[in-house]
Amino acid sequence: MSHLMNTYNRLPIAFTHGKGARLYDEHGKQYLDALAGIAVNGLGHAHPKLVAALTDQVGRLIHTSNVYRVREQEQLADRICALSGMQEVFFGNSGSEANEAALKLVRMFGHKRGEPEAQTIVMERAWHGRTLATLAATGSDKARKGFDPFPTGFIQVPYNDIEAVRRAVDADRRVLAIWLEVLQGEGGIYVADMTYVKALRQLCDERGLLLMIDEVQSGIGRTGKWFAHQWAGVRPDVMTLAKGLGSGVPVGACVAAGPATGVFGPGNHGTTFGGNPLAMRAGVETLAIIESEGLMVNAVAQGERIVGGLKRVLGGIEGLVQIRGMGLMIGIELDRPCGELVRQALDAGLLINVTHDTVIRMLPPLILNAKEADMIVERLAPLILNFLRAGIATTATAKAA
Ligand SMILES: *Cc1c(COP(=O)(O)O)cnc(C)c1O
Repeated sequence: MSHLMNTYNRLPIAFTHGKGARLYDEHGKQYLDALAGIAVNGLGHAHPKLVAALTDQVGRLIHTSNVYRVREQEQLADRICALSGMQEVFFGNSGSEANEAALKLVRMFGHKRGEPEAQTIVMERAWHGRTLATLAATGSDKARKGFDPFPTGFIQVPYNDIEAVRRAVDADRRVLAIWLEVLQGEGGIYVADMTYVKALRQLCDERGLLLMIDEVQSGIGRTGKWFAHQWAGVRPDVMTLAKGLGSGVPVGACVAAGPATGVFGPGNHGTTFGGNPLAMRAGVETLAIIESEGLMVNAVAQGERIVGGLKRVLGGIEGLVQIRGMGLMIGIELDRPCGELVRQALDAGLLINVTHDTVIRMLPPLILNAKEADMIVERLAPLILNFLRAGIATTATAKAA
């Protein structure tokens, strides 16, 4: 521990193994996993089909390099394009890397069109990663603090506000792309109006701009469709994927369609590990299992079950701001910082997370069953009730004093 850089506030437990939606710590205590490694372990832990496929793959090939053709890479790209209606894929190893590829694509796109200062419109509260360029596009002052100077080329506007985007596009002729999450994850589980997403598509078509959608957290079935933007019935020009794609084997993807295709040529972009046979097999198998087990339909059903259950217990309670989300991407916003609930849930055998200080976030595995969905509600709702009541009691005491 003392030799690790001090970049995380870690909880004082470590897990030894998992099975489905359950994780077991070093003392044998069982936890219900409502976080799934931050939207990564969509298939839960140790899914037998995934274990068999990866075991087979490790026994044959882990890595060869992009000096050669990689059949598994071609296979996963075909699959992603079939599911998204898009045309080309570049594989990296993380969400940040997928987004870096997308940002480099915009810049190259600009240079090819005689606009060497391409600007990308980005959103308040957006989260795109921790590399310098993705951090420059991220709307979190906390994450950015101390890391300037940043790469330029970003114009930030309020989320879910089409007029703000229009004004920004009108104000700067160098704007070539609009970039957003359809459902903001790290920013606090804020869902865009689908009419807004459609209007962005239309604006991009009218002005010849690239519509870029970061599906790193919301993609791969989590909201009940392969990609969250499909709820709006639009297709982006650039889409990025990562978290759920490899079920824990690191993989990221930058996917292009229409005007965003054919932008890079050999030597323009690359990465050593990207698209290796192990990561690609994990992706192919993950998508196959989500489809064959009907996990997207399940994500919607269990998401509704959790949200419905929470609303029944917590509805109208003072201190609860909103319960929101799509599928198994769920946020419970309180009117005060609630980080301490993470520890309390841990004691109660439930793994959750708090983002943006006041939003309890759950990203359970897509394999969650109804009993487990109910168990999440049974374990979490009383903690929230107690937390809010204690807070109100404290405020009342303070006022009396
Ligand atoms: C997690 C996340 C990223 C960053 O992905 P990393 O793999 O951590 O680099 C980018 N965009 C969104 C929407 C994310 O949720």
